[in-house]
Amino acid sequence: DTRIAAISSAIRVIPDFPKPGILFHDITTLLLDTKAFKDTIDLFVERYRDKNISVVAGIEARGFIFGPPIALAIGAKFVPMRKPKKLPGEVISEEYSLEYGKDVMEMHVGAVEAGERALIVDDLIATGGTLCAAIRLLGKRVGVHVVECACVVELPELKGRDRLGDKPLFVLVN
Ligand code: 5GP
Repeated sequence: DTRIAAISSAIRVIPDFPKPGILFHDITTLLLDTKAFKDTIDLFVERYRDKNISVVAGIEARGFIFGPPIALAIGAKFVPMRKPKKLPGEVISEEYSLEYGKDVMEMHVGAVEAGERALIVDDLIATGGTLCAAIRLLGKRVGVHVVECACVVELPELKGRDRLGDKPLFVLVN
């Protein structure tokens, strides 16, 4: 697909952010390119429009940029998966490990029900720990059927895909 090359080149790579040694993939430059941003959303919509998905779960923070336009276009609701203590209602939480230490992901109770079909959206998969926590929260804890995880970028050398178990991962750029 000719759209992929333009999406890939619209993503800026910044060395030593947020720490020395890390090569950060900055998707904010993709958002400045109106064609590449629209093509990004369209590619996901083309893939998911006929998959009977009732909920798009977006991961804080950049899953909140790509998730909602996909949800609107495919006629699904949008559910934010947030960092701790951000959601005002009753939540369920799932702990997950980072390179150094732990983090927690939270979702509102009642936002999604057992048996619903979900798509999980984030901007990028690195080690896969974040998507793995989202899969546990939706799948194991609530009983949602996670149809697929979708990211704009995959860093394949980190083998994050292998941590997702039987859940398929779809990416545009790697
Ligand atoms: P993982 O849990 O797969 O190791 O890390 C993925 C999470 O960290 C995603 O939520 C993603 O937004 C963020 N992340 C890690 N590295 C990068 C990066 O280079 N660029 C961007 N945009 N996000 C990153």
